[in-house]
Amino acid sequence: IPTMRIDKLLSSMGYGSRKEMARMAGAGGIQLDGADLTDVSARIALTPDLPQRMEIDGEALDPLAGLVILMNKPLGMTCSHKEEGGLVYDLLPARWRGRDPAISTIGRLDKQTSGLLLLTDDGELLHRVISPRRQVSKTYLASLARPLTGTEAEIFASGTLMLEAETKPLAPAVLEVISPLEARLTITEGRYHQVRRMFAAVGNHVEALHRESLGALHLPQDLAPGGWKLLTAAEIAQIF
Ligand code: URA
Repeated sequence: IPTMRIDKLLSSMGYGSRKEMARMAGAGGIQLDGADLTDVSARIALTPDLPQRMEIDGEALDPLAGLVILMNKPLGMTCSHKEEGGLVYDLLPARWRGRDPAISTIGRLDKQTSGLLLLTDDGELLHRVISPRRQVSKTYLASLARPLTGTEAEIFASGTLMLEAETKPLAPAVLEVISPLEARLTITEGRYHQVRRMFAAVGNHVEALHRESLGALHLPQDLAPGGWKLLTAAEIAQIF
């Protein structure tokens, strides 16, 4: 198990500069195993139970590096780091913006797409999930502008559908018709605006789009738009 200087650890979690951590400890703001911690230059083992053993200003320490967040992305927020305002990152505690390694979305949902979004600070996990070789499935609920004609499922399953301005056909995708204006679509790729462009390719238009699941993970019923939770190790293992 790796060890780290306490001031460096807290600083990398966005609590403040190392100087500020020394000041906070001096003021009795940091507890370890129920006792005031004074020497922030000491090294500490990064055991999984550390967040339960350490308190900062009376609150449990934030999750250590290696976290995965499952969010119910609301409409109107972007997955970008760059834009100002209306970012999915704004839904997390403000100090998490200062974490190193940084937290990023695993893939992206459009501003006008809602539903299951994963975020992580684990770059390796991120690349494994979005890797084309892995073919992690993603299921979307689409509301359509025009009634389905009945030919879409076969076209999407064919493995020959070509999106505009692309040279490689789409991998087979599974369409489940729910009603004339509603369908569930499962894809294994993650091309730009893929679901919207697939329906455009068959003469339709997506009015609303919501991601229900990714791999074996489903959006929990009780997670309101804008809500999020940390995944357990067992849940993370379910992605693949
Ligand atoms: N396909 C899209 O068109 N948009 C998304 O946000 C996700 C998949």
